[in-house]
Amino acid sequence: ATPTAIMVGTGRGAANGILIKSAEALEIAHGVDTVVLDKTGTITRGEPRVTDVVHRADVAVDDLLRVAAALERPSEHPLAKAIVAEGERRGLTVPNADGFEQVPGQGVRGIVDGKECLGGNAAMMAASGIDMAPVEHVRDRLAGEGKTPLFFAADGRLLGVIAVADTVKPTSREAIAGMRAMGLDVVMLTGDNARTAEAIGRQVGVDRVVADVLPQDKEREVRRLQDEGRKVAMVGDGINDAPALVRADVGLAIGAGTDVAMESADIVLMRSDLNDVPAAIELSQATIRNIK
Ligand code: ADP
Ligand code: MG
Repeated sequence: ATPTAIMVGTGRGAANGILIKSAEALEIAHGVDTVVLDKTGTITRGEPRVTDVVHRADVAVDDLLRVAAALERPSEHPLAKAIVAEGERRGLTVPNADGFEQVPGQGVRGIVDGKECLGGNAAMMAASGIDMAPVEHVRDRLAGEGKTPLFFAADGRLLGVIAVADTVKPTSREAIAGMRAMGLDVVMLTGDNARTAEAIGRQVGVDRVVADVLPQDKEREVRRLQDEGRKVAMVGDGINDAPALVRADVGLAIGAGTDVAMESADIVLMRSDLNDVPAAIELSQATIRNIK
């Protein structure tokens, strides 16, 4: 494209809250055929809340929440913040966790009231040999409702399940329909479990869901799509998404997301609205058409 066309395109983007950081990004975006969307914070608001607390019959509900809040208090994860907020809402006195440790994409562990405690997803429990059989039906029901079930255990025994759910942003569904109408293949990529991810994926109408992806593997998923000959746009908000944003042909960051994501992206969506993804691609197409 000519320097003038690029300037016009960049200016039109900026006027609409679409910050395009390089001429290349504006030129490449027109050829994109696949859009990869992160779930938490990108398709959803990223402000999860506790929706269900299911405790073992011999465990008091407040004891489950006290352990969970103690374990999650040092964590910066949005799921952790939801659990700490629930503990506060219930006015619980939460002890400190000693030897706190975080396993990226899986959960947290630490010593609470002298007991070895852990919390997180099924993989986190499996790694410590926790028996999940008694809560399998609870897990399936919660996940089928699009909620994220988190498990908590003390001294090798499960205490219960706390479900956390996030709400889909109001424009995500129409934005994804817009992308599909442009002939784009839309993929949701998430570290969340498959059942929860599928439920959200159905709500917003993506073509495909790739779930249970560890933070360090998101970039590899983008590369895999590129190896199929696709031109990939990646949209994300988290530190987790940064390597995938760099790897993608075009990386788009949610303006309300982390600084790391914005620094790693080619385009920043200041309004944090997924409608600006098809808008950015259309802008690129218009820019390219103008110079032909
Ligand atoms: P996403 O890709 O959706 O942003 P993450 O990669 O951050 O998700 O996390 C993936 C999964 O790991 C979560 O859905 C949750 O089950 C588990 N997990 C991660 N961090 C925590 C935590 N602090 N407490 C409990 N579970 C966690
Ligand atoms: Mg995210």
